[in-house]
Parts: sequence; structure tokens; C-alpha cells
Amino acid sequence: MKEKIYTIPVLDAFQTESECPFCTLYNTLEQNSINFTLGPSYMENDVRIETNKKGFCLPHYQMMSKEKNSLGLALMLHTHMIHVHKNLNELLKKQKPNKKSSFPSFFSKKGNTGVTENLVEQYLHEIHNSCYICEQIQNTFDRYVDTFFYLWKKDKSFIDLVKKCNGFCLQHFGVLYSTAPNFLNQIQLSDFYECIIPLQLENLKRIEEELDWFIKKFDYRYEKEPWKNSKDALPRGILKMAGSSKKV
Ligand SMILES: [Zn+2]
Ligand SMILES: [Zn+2]
Repeated sequence: MKEKIYTIPVLDAFQTESECPFCTLYNTLEQNSINFTLGPSYMENDVRIETNKKGFCLPHYQMMSKEKNSLGLALMLHTHMIHVHKNLNELLKKQKPNKKSSFPSFFSKKGNTGVTENLVEQYLHEIHNSCYICEQIQNTFDRYVDTFFYLWKKDKSFIDLVKKCNGFCLQHFGVLYSTAPNFLNQIQLSDFYECIIPLQLENLKRIEEELDWFIKKFDYRYEKEPWKNSKDALPRGILKMAGSSKKV
């Protein structure tokens, strides 16, 4: 059964203690994708065609730099660079600069909508926003979200599992909150929100209190008190607010 491939990791993530089961899923996908990309596969033609075309985002270049395969990364970067250089050169010859430049709004974060008729700008925008690893993660991650809702509808014990989890990071709570209407009918939807909204708010409160106790522990009056659950409240609080992934 096709769903099985995705069901097992989703169930595992919800059975593992964390501040966000979707971040757990993301982290595993990310590490697998990095291992795959830096493994023997980068010498395979079909993978290399893709990495030449797409390259990687900065966080994934940085993560790969920390792995022990500088030669593999250098080879991929080198052929990606040649590919981009060639395309850019051709486009620069073909495209006359705009009379009225869309710079700086096109390249500034705020004004960048990705809409431009200038082919050079279009290409630079595309390269800046493409990443072989992010794309691999996104494809599977989307299936995990489908599977989450599939299990929610089909499996009562999964609902109980969700109710017992520590909520989600803000980003992935947002994913569930906004995509739920695509998967659930009106009745299912109101049941779903009735579960995940209080779950999320209660868990935000919990981590606020844990962080509060963490802060109090710096006060000499509380020095000898036990840490309770607060020893790692800071990294868990960061994960709760910022998630562990930027793009998914
Ligand atoms: Zn998350
Ligand atoms: Zn990336």
C-alpha cells in the first residue's frame, strides 16, 4: 500500500517526544537528503543534471560544508557554477537592460515578488530561490501533510496520539491551520480546530512557564531549587517559535 511509506514516519514522529512532530519529520528528511546528495549519487548523471540546474540554498550549502565530503561538494558547486555562468552569459547578451530598472525593489526582500519581464532578473531570482535539497524535502513533506490528514480521518487512535503531543512549532501549526480546509469537510474541520487550537495554546503556555522557571533559576533565591522540566527550555522554546526549518 502506497500510504504505508508515509504512514510509518508520521506515526513515529508523533510517538517521539518533541516540540513539533513536523520538525522531527523535516529534520530526518533533511539529513537523509544531505546524505543522499553527498553520497555516491552525486556522480550519477540524473542527479548531477538536477544539482547543476538548481544548486542549493545557503543553509544547505552550509550544512553540506560541515559533512566530510569537501570533494563531492566542490565538484557539484563547480559544475553548477559553469552551468549558471553559461546561462547568465547568454541571457546577458540577449536581454537589454530595462529602461526603468526594477532594482532595488526586485532584489530587496520586501519588494521581491519574483515578477519581472527582464530575463536576467528572472533567471537570477530563480537561481537564488532554487535548492535541490529543499525541493526533495518539500515533495516528501507535502505527502506527510496529506498522510497526517488521511490518518486523522481514518484512524481514531491517531487522533488520540495527536491530542497527547506537545503541539507544533508556529510554522507547522500554520501549515495545519491553513491546509485543513483542503482535506476535511465542515464537521471534520470544526472537530479538528477544536482539538489543535487549544492544544497549541496550552503548549505555548506550558513552554512560557518552563522558560519562566529557567529565568528564575538565574536568581540566587532559586539556585537550590530543582530544574523541573526547564533545563532545556531555551532550545525547545526557540524551536517552538522558529521551527527547525525555514522553507517547509
Ligand atoms: Zn515544526
Ligand atoms: Zn535548501
